[in-house]
Amino acid sequence: VKNAQGQYTVTLIEGDGIGVEISQAVKDIYSAAKIPITWEPVDVTPTLINGRTTLPQEAVDSVNKNKVALKGPLATPVGKGHQSMNLTLRRTFNLFANVRPCKSIVGYATPYEDVDTVLIRENTEGEYSGIEHTIVPGVVQSIKLITRPASERVIRYAFEHAKNINRPHVVVVHKASIQKLSDGLFVEVANEVAKEYPGIKVSFELLDNTCLKLTADPADYKDVVMVMPNLYGDILSDLSSGLIGGLGLTPSGNMGDTVSIFEAVHGSAPDIAGKGLANPTALLLSSCMMLRHMHLNADADKIENAVLKTIASGAENRTGDLHGSASTSHFASEVIKNL
Ligand code: ATP
Ligand code: MG
Repeated sequence: VKNAQGQYTVTLIEGDGIGVEISQAVKDIYSAAKIPITWEPVDVTPTLINGRTTLPQEAVDSVNKNKVALKGPLATPVGKGHQSMNLTLRRTFNLFANVRPCKSIVGYATPYEDVDTVLIRENTEGEYSGIEHTIVPGVVQSIKLITRPASERVIRYAFEHAKNINRPHVVVVHKASIQKLSDGLFVEVANEVAKEYPGIKVSFELLDNTCLKLTADPADYKDVVMVMPNLYGDILSDLSSGLIGGLGLTPSGNMGDTVSIFEAVHGSAPDIAGKGLANPTALLLSSCMMLRHMHLNADADKIENAVLKTIASGAENRTGDLHGSASTSHFASEVIKNL
């Protein structure tokens, strides 16, 4: 919602590890670019309530009020019986679809120059249901939960997204040849939903075959929106990131019915945290997805163009993950110059 000063308030979850450094870069660049966003920073350090990982009420209220949040990576507290913080957020706000675009960066050469994939990951169930138990010592069982409602809403989201971004083809990635009931249901639902979208072609691909084709010729997926169960999306999106130069570059949006949270695909990178080495590009591009979601397209273009120009301007302005020598803050100040 726009306030009287023409500003939009967005919840900011800075995150752990490199989250603090890359969030600082975003804040500096946004204020230099005069983007009409007022950040509302919140603390999401969880507490255990009745054995459930629970977010502070203030953070929940902020996201529900603002409807849009930008989030740095969160590490899950270890050894206290906590569930994944990312899962907790997705569950709390019912963020059922995770949209992960991956596009070659002009000016940063990789073996392929024409990667332009869009992948939608089911975000709430599948292999991430967290239902695991020991049957007898040495024998464990992990349950992959697939439901019709969750499959239907993420698949419908994929078709709607394809329509919105003018891609004529939805590819459903699955392994129903082996997971006959679970992925079988996902495929069955996709066939049903596809009937509502006669203008969009639908096809079905086995996950292993998608890995083969995506690495052999990513350009085959230029007109495609891929949609798939949770774990497959996790793996295929890192694979796609690798094709364009790594995790420092790829953004994502967690979409729900009322709330959306935008975040980098990468984690908190404890190996480089606090050293000023992190690449803020993935979070910056996530913020551009956020601006476009808010219909602030010109602001998104302004940030994105400056980021891409900076990456293309030479190794001295790129961070170490892109074989450059720049610190996070040097990169950010170059982006500001290129605005
Ligand atoms: P988490 O447990 O929070 O997911 P992780 O160590 O499993 O963390 P990532 O944080 O995604 O996984 O990091 C994987 C690798 O990629 C690490 O070597 C990290 O340094 C590198 N990396 C991730 N994000 C960035 C970034 N923004 N800039 C530079 N390097 C990054
Ligand atoms: Mg990780």
